[in-house]
Amino acid sequence: MTKLTPILSAHWDEKDSFTIEAYKRHGGYTASTKALAMDPDAIIQIIKDSGLRGRGGAGFPTGMKWGFIPQGDNKDHYLVVNADESEPGTCKDTPLLMANPHVLIEGCIIACHAIRAKHAFIYIRGEVTHVVRRVNQAIEDAYKAGLLGNGIDVVLHIGAGAYICGEETALLDSLEGFRGQPRLRPPFPAIAGLYARPTVVNNVESIASVPAIIANGAEWYQGMGTEKSKGATLYSLSGHVNNPGQFEAPLGITLREILELSGGVRTGHTLKFWTPGGSSTPIFTSEHLDVPLDYEGVSAAGSMLGTKALQIFDETTCVVRAVLRWTEFYKHESCGKCTPCREGTWWLVQLLRDLEAGKGTEADLAKLLDLCDNIMGRSFCALGDGATSPITSSIKYFRDEYIAHITNGGCPFDPVASTLFAGAGA
Ligand code: SF4
Repeated sequence: MTKLTPILSAHWDEKDSFTIEAYKRHGGYTASTKALAMDPDAIIQIIKDSGLRGRGGAGFPTGMKWGFIPQGDNKDHYLVVNADESEPGTCKDTPLLMANPHVLIEGCIIACHAIRAKHAFIYIRGEVTHVVRRVNQAIEDAYKAGLLGNGIDVVLHIGAGAYICGEETALLDSLEGFRGQPRLRPPFPAIAGLYARPTVVNNVESIASVPAIIANGAEWYQGMGTEKSKGATLYSLSGHVNNPGQFEAPLGITLREILELSGGVRTGHTLKFWTPGGSSTPIFTSEHLDVPLDYEGVSAAGSMLGTKALQIFDETTCVVRAVLRWTEFYKHESCGKCTPCREGTWWLVQLLRDLEAGKGTEADLAKLLDLCDNIMGRSFCALGDGATSPITSSIKYFRDEYIAHITNGGCPFDPVASTLFAGAGA
């Protein structure tokens, strides 16, 4: 069985793990010292060779992204860290930043040197004030220690909590002081990003993975994972499980293995459905327990690895209600820029509300799928596509349950049975 490989999460259980002293005690900031003495192109090559891919959802090779930044162009370059973690079920960057903010700062120093940038911006959700305070303190301590301010500066920018600002170009607009809405591409951020300057936008976990790669080498990182999905990553397990939390393991581990390592589905219950990468990825069922959780394996099985947010739902859950909740979220978070998503998500919610309440018809079910068909691939950004994923996949696997709502004239599930407070649904 694949074992857990704590790298980023190695010292999270130490009381002072978030301090600069603890980080240095475990070898922190030695990788950036090594990197600053290296040729920037050599660093990019190591990251390319390591096989590190973006951990924010898209899985784009990190070293290749860095390599797109034009050199010798006499322009300012920027690094932007996407810490706007908002996808339902996704909760990896928050614990990472709470337990070890310095690994991100060290990653920023190395990445800035590699792409020849003097400024890194960390764009963080405003609602997570405890994380904001922690990262702010870490930045302050890094300045006091002389690790920042000698040619590389890090600025923490607090967002206002719009899900769409996790989309990299909407994030850039928001960072520039505009309303956060996705930009038309091309030009891509590597050519014209923040303030129209060459910009790398990377997820927190991607940048935080860099110091260990520089310290241990590309081969060490390549030795973990699968053929095309290298390294280890944070899988977030939540929902109907005995031990929710972060499980850092090589890419390619299966949900069955993670459940075995973590205490399994809540006692006395069975797995019904789950998301491999947050609520915008098509759901899986118990048939998919042995799908390798890497970019290729999940995609071949019909979904996406996304943010590796494994939300587990047992047999007490009404899939129609769960999908309705997610769809309400996407309707609320639709930025309104394009019609298929702005209007479509509103209509999706109306139809799902009727179906869940037992007031829908089979014609509504057909209309729901038709609407999804008109949103998918016709929206300006991935939010619209993502909103359709839980709907179409749940109808694919649980059509009978949708029909049961129609024929019963209501939801056949006890809503209390699926709640997680003590004693409920036992
Ligand atoms: Fe905005 Fe939705 Fe269109 Fe994306 S798909 S641009 S979130 S309206």
